[in-house]
Amino acid sequence: MMPGLVDAHCHVGLESTGAVPDDVAEQHALAERSAGALLLRDAGSPADTRWMDEREDLPRIIRAGRHIARPKRYLRNYGDEVEPDALLDAVERQAARGDGWVKLVGDWIDREVGDLTPLWPADVARAAIDRAHALGCRVTAHVFGEQAVAELVEAGIDGIEHGTGLDPETNAATIDLMAQRQVALVPTMIQLENFPGFADAAQDKFPAYARRMRHLHARRHATFGAALDAGVPIYAGTDAGGYLPHGIVGREMAAMRSFMGAEQVLGAGSWRARAWLGRPDVLAEGAPADLVVFASDPRADLRVLGTPAAVVLRGRRVA
Ligand SMILES: [Zn+2]
Repeated sequence: MMPGLVDAHCHVGLESTGAVPDDVAEQHALAERSAGALLLRDAGSPADTRWMDEREDLPRIIRAGRHIARPKRYLRNYGDEVEPDALLDAVERQAARGDGWVKLVGDWIDREVGDLTPLWPADVARAAIDRAHALGCRVTAHVFGEQAVAELVEAGIDGIEHGTGLDPETNAATIDLMAQRQVALVPTMIQLENFPGFADAAQDKFPAYARRMRHLHARRHATFGAALDAGVPIYAGTDAGGYLPHGIVGREMAAMRSFMGAEQVLGAGSWRARAWLGRPDVLAEGAPADLVVFASDPRADLRVLGTPAAVVLRGRRVA
């Protein structure tokens, strides 16, 4: 038995074409619940899911508003799209929609360059992070490549999503700074399995991008292992919503075993993630009765995480 699992990167109410109706968003939340994920950090959704906070039978959600991106520099219908001169306004809008997090898209393919490039000039990103902090929010960013992660960590960001550009050879200083400032890393291992497919699709038009995506994918375990060894806090997030189904946090945690110890993985998807998000992290008198039960010790085989024997939310057995 352990505190309920945490999906630290998912998108409730978001599918590949954009926002979905409330009844579909409810199915997303129920799928997370069945998997034992009772605390969700929503890393950006165009759907307003705040009505779920009234529902005792649904997981607790900590939101980041909508993704903040630039026109034509991210997936269509997902983000609040602005040019850099309007980024601060977007930060204020999305801070008001969220629960203490703001989500930036840090890099994406630039079709004129034919490669990943940062969306925001470094000084603009820094001003945006400062503004979010002044509003009492933490900031995280979608980042695949090497340059944007270095600039955003230097600028004072609080979290990095995906983070495949944390190359221990070229970005060692960035890794050290993340460890020193305890900047959270959520690697989204299942999502990264799509990189070779992105590369194949882009091969003819954008060969440099395709090469980079294959390289980031090929060395991902060494990248995250170096971050872990340096002391960067790492948490489990599935990137469900958009293109991946909800309810796969157990699979994500099992995939993290490729560079973390079993006990570390369990903390990263349960009590350590709860503490990081400011929620009770132990099953003790007075704490919320949000817990998950497995038929055998997951430290022996993490695959049992995919099939909880029981899920208890707010003291009621829900699965
Ligand atoms: Zn995501």
